[in-house]
Amino acid sequence: MPASERKNIADNPSWTAPQKPFRIYGNTWYVGPRGLGIFLVTARTGDVLIDGGVPGDAPLIEANIRDLGVDLHDIKWILNSHAHSDHAGSMAQLAHDTGAQVIANAADAPLLERGGRDDPQYGDRFPIPPVHVARTVTDGEVLHLGGLLLTAYSTPGHTKGNTTWTWVSCEGTHCLHLVDVGSLSAPGFALIGNPKYPDILKDFEHSFAVVAALPCDIPLAPHPGMVNFWERVAKHEQGDVDALIDPTGCRAYAKDARESFETQLVKQRADAASTNRRRPPISGR
Ligand SMILES: [Zn+2]
Repeated sequence: MPASERKNIADNPSWTAPQKPFRIYGNTWYVGPRGLGIFLVTARTGDVLIDGGVPGDAPLIEANIRDLGVDLHDIKWILNSHAHSDHAGSMAQLAHDTGAQVIANAADAPLLERGGRDDPQYGDRFPIPPVHVARTVTDGEVLHLGGLLLTAYSTPGHTKGNTTWTWVSCEGTHCLHLVDVGSLSAPGFALIGNPKYPDILKDFEHSFAVVAALPCDIPLAPHPGMVNFWERVAKHEQGDVDALIDPTGCRAYAKDARESFETQLVKQRADAASTNRRRPPISGR
């Protein structure tokens, strides 16, 4: 593991911090470390894991799954939200240990397969063990497993194949839309003049609109803080039975993310303009 990756993990201790697994709603369970939303969704004919944490998180995730009484080999699919090291870093190990097939967005599959290298923003700074993608999905595709339907919405920008996964979980006859909102942040990203990702502005705009419009009763996220998840869990534990439900959560996240993005873009445009002004005039031939 390169020093840049080691530092990234050391600087974010919640990504490897233990968290007792628990039921979120119906057939949906939290199985990640404290700081990374990793979800187990069970179905009649097999289970689905969404995301894989940083390199080294596999033992923690697997112990959480076993704690719930689930056999690792019952996991049929491992889905990915996006191909960054904090969400895909242990996917190769998890796929190996469970025998599950990895399913990812067609636009992120190459980044997973090449081990996170040559990322349009991060270059080679945060590599992961390469992940074999058994099956790819495109925007709006629905996966069926034993009565469970999972829909993949492409929400590109953060990565080219960044995906928002949605499904319905029921308790008795009460069914809710669960949404694992794809990251809409652009931390330190080059938003203009990036030859590795010329369509990035258009993609982010599309994704803000998609996430804001989704049916969304229980918002979840690869980083739980994106949707105030732990605040809602704390209220739930104090006896507020509906505290996990927040039908405004997806829209609120999209709005906040869009505002941060626009601030960042204005600054980058101003910086680019002042750099151009400082450039000496091109002398005539
Ligand atoms: Zn990311």
